[in-house]
Amino acid sequence: MLDKQSKILKKGGKLSKEVEKKITKKVSKSVAKKTTTKEVKEKLPDHHFKKVKAKRGLAGLGLFAGEDIKKGELIIEYIGEILNKEQADKKATSQYLFEVSRNKTIDGTPRWNIARYCNHACEEAANAESEIKRGRVFIQAIKNIKEGEEIVYDYGEEFVKEHIAPYGCNCTAKQHSYGAMGAVVSQ
Ligand SMILES: [Zn+2]
Repeated sequence: MLDKQSKILKKGGKLSKEVEKKITKKVSKSVAKKTTTKEVKEKLPDHHFKKVKAKRGLAGLGLFAGEDIKKGELIIEYIGEILNKEQADKKATSQYLFEVSRNKTIDGTPRWNIARYCNHACEEAANAESEIKRGRVFIQAIKNIKEGEEIVYDYGEEFVKEHIAPYGCNCTAKQHSYGAMGAVVSQ
């Protein structure tokens, strides 16, 4: 496990260190805020950087901001069972597989991975993105997100072509990415 991580670290090089600093800073910042703000008394669950909740969204359940989130802030970590390539190939049909590197895939199927409720939006409508850092996956804001807004990120071409384009995309973009069409809204 450690061995695998150090390999990824080497590959990431300089960026990893910067990112590590950023993560540490973010965590300590949010901890400091929690102890001073009376209304935010409850401790966020592990892997959460910001308050979020799952409720009905663009396509089934979605992930919503439980507080204002600033552009660039980490929101939540995408966690799950770690699979090697062979194990991941066996589960290839799962929509919650997140390939981190050639031999490491996170299976985010478990319900405790609340990040899995984050729906897809095409580039134009996305307010977050998935970032792979040191072999881990984080959902990070790329726009300021207001409390109550749905958090959405671009799942990438491969996923969209396979799982979204055939049914039409539910996101709010006027122009969908990767040649996908908008979903037909049934009245
Ligand atoms: Zn779209």
